[in-house]
Amino acid sequence: MNNNLVDLHSHTTCSDGTFTPNELLTEAERIGLKILSITDHECVDAYFNMDTKLFSGTIIPGIELRTSCLGVSIELLGYGFDIKKMKENIEKFKYLDTAALDKYMAELAYKQYTSRGVMLDEDFIDKFNKTNIPRFSKYLMSELAKHPENQKYTNDIPENKSFFRYCMTNPNSPLFIDLSPAFPSIKDLITCIKDAGGFISIPHIFEYKDNAERILVELLEKHPEIDAIECFYPSFSKDNTEYLLDICKKYNKYSSGGSDFHGMNRPSTFLGRGIENNLYVPIDLVKKWTNTIPHFSN
Ligand SMILES: [Zn+2]
Repeated sequence: MNNNLVDLHSHTTCSDGTFTPNELLTEAERIGLKILSITDHECVDAYFNMDTKLFSGTIIPGIELRTSCLGVSIELLGYGFDIKKMKENIEKFKYLDTAALDKYMAELAYKQYTSRGVMLDEDFIDKFNKTNIPRFSKYLMSELAKHPENQKYTNDIPENKSFFRYCMTNPNSPLFIDLSPAFPSIKDLITCIKDAGGFISIPHIFEYKDNAERILVELLEKHPEIDAIECFYPSFSKDNTEYLLDICKKYNKYSSGGSDFHGMNRPSTFLGRGIENNLYVPIDLVKKWTNTIPHFSN
């Protein structure tokens, strides 16, 4: 068993995970994690609701924030910031919750699709507001399928591809929806994290599929304030990780890694170890930067 486990990307019940902050600390202690960061979406509440005595390792304050790059919805991670200041800063953005974001996406989709000739019912937005289908992407797929004229857009979607990543958030797809009006800009987000004294990392870049490299280059070339790249992540191949480690050298960035643990909302992913032990974040690489930023204690 590896006894130098590190995990700098995890979620609790304060966003979309199923472990409470204290349950997550208990699990981190049980597996012998050395460094942990809880990076809930748009929220630092976990840090106000935890008993740090449950975990003997190092805790790095963390957060995951949505923005958009080239019209694609992406995330950035912030670490080592002042928690109260971060809470104040993110409140200014008035992030939409999942339900409100879905409703806003329905409006953006209707406007952008119909101007491009994609067929949708006239009461598309109204119907979605009354529907019980939980997520917008599912609703959208079923609505598109009602119009045979849309087959030219939907026919060549590979079965194993996520509609959200492959179509809705892919600028090369005719079914792309530019989501940038729904999120703060990258510039605003960087200011928010830096103003709270934080360190910035680019998470799970290959989750953005065909757009991954374009987004990575855009972020690195236009935003020198970015400090690190998440090079170790459960869905990355060995080649993905090697590639990102090379990019870190080229751009003089630190490297990071984490499981993106969500508890039972992503049941095959384990804290510190990823999917079937495919994650190993080298502690020495991470300590190069975690030793230079504030740790959390209460
Ligand atoms: Zn995450």
